[in-house]
Amino acid sequence: MYGTPREFLENRLSIVINAQKCVGCTLCMRFCPLGTVLEQGSDGRVHRSREMACAGCMKCIDRCPNAAISAIRRAT
Ligand code: SF4
Ligand code: SF4
Repeated sequence: MYGTPREFLENRLSIVINAQKCVGCTLCMRFCPLGTVLEQGSDGRVHRSREMACAGCMKCIDRCPNAAISAIRRAT
């Protein structure tokens, strides 16, 4: 369980990408329904671009073959 979409929308959770695990397959980007949250950097790895836009659908987490993406709870 990663959290709920409501928690993302209320800005209590964030997507975090572990650069050590990312292999740049871009599956997360292709399955993100918003299309603007994740972007591929010049190093080939995917980074979060606009975290405020994340809807918390968890598709990127579920699709990543390397478990490089997780959701973290923000400090309050
Ligand atoms: S799905 Fe995972 S390994 Fe593939 S680009 Fe996204 S974060 Fe990197
Ligand atoms: S949780 Fe959903 S909206 Fe947020 S970055 Fe992942 S796929 Fe995109």
